[in-house]
Amino acid sequence: MKLPEEFGENVFNDSVQKDTLPSEVYKALRATIETGKRLDVSIAGAVASAMKKWAISKGATHYSHWFQPLTGLTAEKHDSFIEPEGDKVIMRLTGKSLIVGEPDASSFPSGGSRATHIARGYTAWDPTSPAFVKEGTLYIPTVFVSYTGETLDKKAPLLRSMTAVDKQAKRILKLFGIDCKRVSTTVGPEQEYFLISEEEYLKRKDLVLTGRTLFGAPVTRGQELEDHYFGTIKTTIGEYMRDLDGELWSYGILSKTKHNEVAPAQHEMAPIFTTVNVAVDSNMLTMELMKKVAPRHGLVCLLHEKPFRGINGSGKHNNWSLNTETGLNLLNPGDSPETNTLFKLVLTAVIKAVDDYQGILRASVASAANDHRLGADEAPPAIVSVYLGDQLGAIVDSIVKGESYKAAKAAKGDIGVPESPIFPKDATDRNRTSPFAFTGNKFEFRMLGSQANVADANIGLNTIIADALEQFADELENKSNLNDAIDALIKRELTAHYRIIFNHDGYGPAWEPEAAKRGLLNNKNTADAIPVLYEEKNIEVFVKQGVFTRAEAKARADIRLENYIKTINIEALTMLEMAKRDYIPAVSCFIAELCQNAASKQALSDKIPCTTERDLIIRLSELNDKASAAVKKLEADLKSIDKSDILSASQAMAHVIIPGMDELRRYVDEMETLTSADYWPYPTYFDLLYSVR
Ligand code: ADP
Ligand code: MG
Repeated sequence: MKLPEEFGENVFNDSVQKDTLPSEVYKALRATIETGKRLDVSIAGAVASAMKKWAISKGATHYSHWFQPLTGLTAEKHDSFIEPEGDKVIMRLTGKSLIVGEPDASSFPSGGSRATHIARGYTAWDPTSPAFVKEGTLYIPTVFVSYTGETLDKKAPLLRSMTAVDKQAKRILKLFGIDCKRVSTTVGPEQEYFLISEEEYLKRKDLVLTGRTLFGAPVTRGQELEDHYFGTIKTTIGEYMRDLDGELWSYGILSKTKHNEVAPAQHEMAPIFTTVNVAVDSNMLTMELMKKVAPRHGLVCLLHEKPFRGINGSGKHNNWSLNTETGLNLLNPGDSPETNTLFKLVLTAVIKAVDDYQGILRASVASAANDHRLGADEAPPAIVSVYLGDQLGAIVDSIVKGESYKAAKAAKGDIGVPESPIFPKDATDRNRTSPFAFTGNKFEFRMLGSQANVADANIGLNTIIADALEQFADELENKSNLNDAIDALIKRELTAHYRIIFNHDGYGPAWEPEAAKRGLLNNKNTADAIPVLYEEKNIEVFVKQGVFTRAEAKARADIRLENYIKTINIEALTMLEMAKRDYIPAVSCFIAELCQNAASKQALSDKIPCTTERDLIIRLSELNDKASAAVKKLEADLKSIDKSDILSASQAMAHVIIPGMDELRRYVDEMETLTSADYWPYPTYFDLLYSVR
């Protein structure tokens, strides 16, 4: 691909809009995109016609409303542009087909809030995220709602949450005499992924069906040499990354950084941040393209949070901040944050929101797959806390203690290499163990899973921060002595929420008991994390900010739990099948061969030693029996769960089924280390992690 010429060539972006739309129409459309002004429906016909013409010039024959149902994936249904005219056809896209679609909603999750016979669902054009052409189809980003107007997707509440933050942030800015058209949430999600050989992948039933390995003894060389992170990129991987970048750029996705990650076969792509709505759509498309490009290189891209036990899993760092259309970043501390009152006020709102609604943030990233990461020593712990770093930490301390703050000057760095220019040291070091870290001019929410739709986390963040800003604005507006009122508010709120700040090692053993002492939540798995969403306070904040209705909030929690139950159920069934049909019989055959060998030796002479065979026969027979018993128990446990009661079923999955799966795995993994490679029915971790050149 040729840069910069071909960047965004598949996108109906601003410059294409400007070139192809009548100027009045263009202006009206931009007003909606830039300021969130309601779309003037009368322009839809003109936009549709220009869009269709442009799409056909890019080879499109179809269009599709593209939406994000609560499955966590994207959905699309393609209609061709053809319309009969005599015995010929013409190509047509009407304004109405651009604006609304009517997919059958009954086969998408709705959390039981809608009976199947009332199946009407509507998709409605979201003009703030650009349409694009992919593989012969014009994709139109849309929201997805039911006949009764209830949202059935992740985009509609995201847009509502953006509106909520915009409204409240503008009230705060007004206190400082700043007028702006729009305050947008900006997000840059860093995406981690694994690449493995397609040939080996296809032989692993568990990877194909569940996205992760359910069995597998650890490989003798994992990540302990710390040689993969930022290591030289292998040829095949390099070719994949180049191909991927070309695809991403052609769709206007700002792919910026690529490198090897910590675990073998693990990599990362980081885009430049954009408005959250576009960032979410881009990330969904990025994940799809990551998977699509891989087979061209004989590879498979794994986006699961924990494809392999014993080495790092994959996450997504959600870099989040608030920006005005004039380029003011509300989280930019400037040179002297201690005197930057606007920054301190917004920072205080974030700290308050994260403390008040830890449960919402934790739940927003909860999934069966992400449970394998949070709490292990690679990802932040399941406890939500805020990292501020030395400089901001000291400022907050001084405010809370009522002491004056002495700025610690950023030391001039000297790296001791005479040829190298002296570089100014950052005022703050990095902390990779914090779930929610201030990193210069943004917060980095690090608990998200790699395959998550980042909308969930950002709906939560936007909503709770809008709520804190609203409370602040309510209190401060019309105050006669505004400065004193702000100082008092900041001091009061920082003191009240001081417990959420933690500037030390989040992986260390000291943090859990300390967090418990502070009364912070520590919900280690999805079954425990999601029910928090049913609490009145956590429903109320979504309702008050206009993001969810009561029914929507409850339905979404239900769906998360249902999804958890179904995921674990599929994993357990897959394990049972692999154990019963492949592992247990394979080990039994190997034992038979050992027995035959031992018997032949004995037949020749009872002086020939057969300790090797004997010991292996005994140990493998024991393990295979234990594996068979674990299979029986797991089958019985699965049968006994009443899946219609989602609260008790999810608890049973977390506390009975998962331990049962772990037990079965333990026996099989040990048998793997003792069984001849010739007999082993599946590729090993070595085959999966080290077969790409
Ligand atoms: P690092 O995480 O290594 O510090 P950067 O600071 O360059 O890397 O940023 C990481 C991610 O954060 C990138 O996706 C970047 O675009 C994004 N980012 C930077 N500034 C902002 C901002 N104001 N709002 C949201 N995301 C941002
Ligand atoms: Mg980062």
